[in-house]
Amino acid sequence: MLEARKIRLVMELRQQGITDQAVLSAIERVPREAFIPESFHDQAYENTALPIGHGQTISQPSVVGFMTQALEIGSRMKILEVGTGCGYQAAVLAGLCRRVYSVERFRELLRSSDARLRDLRINNVTTKWGDGGAGWPEQAPFDRMILTAAAKEVPKVLLDQMTDDGIIIAPIGTTTHDQSLVKFRHLPSGEWDSEELWPVRFVPMLDGTIGDTSNQ
Ligand code: SAH
Repeated sequence: MLEARKIRLVMELRQQGITDQAVLSAIERVPREAFIPESFHDQAYENTALPIGHGQTISQPSVVGFMTQALEIGSRMKILEVGTGCGYQAAVLAGLCRRVYSVERFRELLRSSDARLRDLRINNVTTKWGDGGAGWPEQAPFDRMILTAAAKEVPKVLLDQMTDDGIIIAPIGTTTHDQSLVKFRHLPSGEWDSEELWPVRFVPMLDGTIGDTSNQ
């Protein structure tokens, strides 16, 4: 049942313009139902965002697909994700690159996404509880970066953690109703080119962390 819905979803994504076969295959290999609460399992392969608790959402499959495609991922690349959430986007990226580093500010969300990724035997995702606005300097430089929470701009500390030909995809905007996905490309001159892709709606990127420091 879910398998048939998954095939239909992948066809829909292709029709919408996600034409990169490697991206479509990566989406096909990740069981989205494993990342959402049981009560939403029947909607796992509908092209919609769904709640994952703590006021956060798992992104819409087409948004995951378009962002992943826009990243132009190569198999040897290191990718930084800001906003692990339920871990779904990280799982899709993991199928396309060498290693994903993902930072989440909600300790509880990270605990469950770590458990899911382990159960699915996705071994090339490393996560960290922290404020992703600071990036992950110890693991830099990154070939690619994806922000899955909206910011006013990409913080300079994140730009500084990118390779010379790095690409960043990020939802940029100050309110939920005025956000666009923006693709930033590091130019040989050292400057960053930016291209506005489409309007999107992401939760805001917030400072600091949420959760206790015990039981680490
Ligand atoms: N990529 C996720 C979707 C994440 S929703 C997925 O595939 O499910 C956005 C996430 O960003 C939320 O979990 C939110 O807690 C997190 N977030 C917001 N601001 C952050 C910050 N400064 N650092 C790290 N994570 C942040």
